[in-house]
Amino acid sequence: MKRIGVLTSGGDAPGMNAAIRAVVRKGIYHELEVAGVYSGYQGLIEGKIEKLEAGDVGDIIQRGGTKLYSARCPEFKTSEGREKAVRNLKEHGIEGLVVIGGDGSYRGAMELTKLGIPCIGVPGTIDNDIPGTDYTLGFDTALNTVIEAIDKIRDTATSHERTFVVEVMGRDAGDLALWAGLAGGAESILIPEEPYQLDDMIARLEKGKKRGKKHSIIIVAEGVTDGNTLAREIADKAGVETRVSVLGHIQRGGSPTARDRVLGSLFGARAVEVLMAGGKGRAIGMRNHQVVDYDMTQAFTESHETDMSLYTLSKELSI
Ligand code: ADP
Repeated sequence: MKRIGVLTSGGDAPGMNAAIRAVVRKGIYHELEVAGVYSGYQGLIEGKIEKLEAGDVGDIIQRGGTKLYSARCPEFKTSEGREKAVRNLKEHGIEGLVVIGGDGSYRGAMELTKLGIPCIGVPGTIDNDIPGTDYTLGFDTALNTVIEAIDKIRDTATSHERTFVVEVMGRDAGDLALWAGLAGGAESILIPEEPYQLDDMIARLEKGKKRGKKHSIIIVAEGVTDGNTLAREIADKAGVETRVSVLGHIQRGGSPTARDRVLGSLFGARAVEVLMAGGKGRAIGMRNHQVVDYDMTQAFTESHETDMSLYTLSKELSI
C-alpha cells in the first residue's frame, strides 16, 4: 500500500481533527502518502482530493469541527454516485480510505469496501450511539459543554426557585442526557431507552419540594420529546412554573477535551495500522479501555447499549 485517503462525513464532532492529524502523520511515519478528501462523500464524487503533508495538519488538534469539511451526500446512496467515487479514488491512486463519521457514513464505507476500496471506520459523533465502541469522538466534549450549561442554568433555577427543562442532543440515544444528568446532578433524566413516565417524574418533583428543594433540573434527550412540550406538560400537571433551555448546536462545537484529542489520536493511528495490515470493512473503537477493531457491519446491524447502571444510580442520588 502506497497511498491512503481520509475523509469526514455526516455530523461534525470535536476530535475529528485530532483523528485526521493522526491518520496523516501515522501514514507519513510509515512512508505512505496520505490524501485528504474534502466534504465527505460529496468530495469523493466531485474529486476534491488533495495530498496532505505533515505540516498541513498542524495547529488543528485543538480545533472543533473538521478541517476536511463534512457533508451529507444523497448521491452516494446511488450506485452511479459510488462508481464515480471509485473512479476518482483509482485516478488518485488511493488504495485504502479512513472514514470518520457516524453509522450512516459506515454504511457508505461498507459499500465502497464491496467495490474494492478497503475502508476503515472511525466513530465520530457526539451522540455516542455507535455499536461496538464504548465511546465515540466528540461525546466527551459535548458532555462537558452540556455540564457547563447546566451549571449556569442551575444558578438561575436556584435564585428563582424554578423547574428547568434542559433539552440535549443525542438523536435516538440517551447517553448524552444520561451522563450529563448524572454529572450535573439533575433531578430527573428522560432518555429514549426508558419508558416516558411523567407521573413518576412529577411525584419525584413533589417529594423533593416537600424536603425543601427549591429548584429542579430535568434533562430530556431529544429522542424522547422536545423540551417545550415537556415543560408545558409538567406545568399543567404539577402546577409549577417551568422554563426551558434547548441547548442545540452549541453541543456540536468547541475545542475538543483532552480525552477526545487522545481518542482521536489513538483511533486515527489504529485505522492506519489496520489498513496497512490488509484490513477492510473494519471499525475502530474503545472497549474496556482498549482500542479495538471489529467488523464494521456490526456498527449498523447491532444496537448500541447505553450503560443503564448510570440511570439507576442517578435515580438513587437525586432523591
Ligand atoms: P452519520 O454518518 O453522522 O450517521 P448520515 O447518516 O447523514 O450521517 O450519513 C452520512 C453520509 O453517508 C450520507 O449523506 C450518505 O452520503 C452516506 N450514507 C448513509 N447511508 C448510506 C447507505 N446506506 N449507502 C451509501 N451511503 C450511505
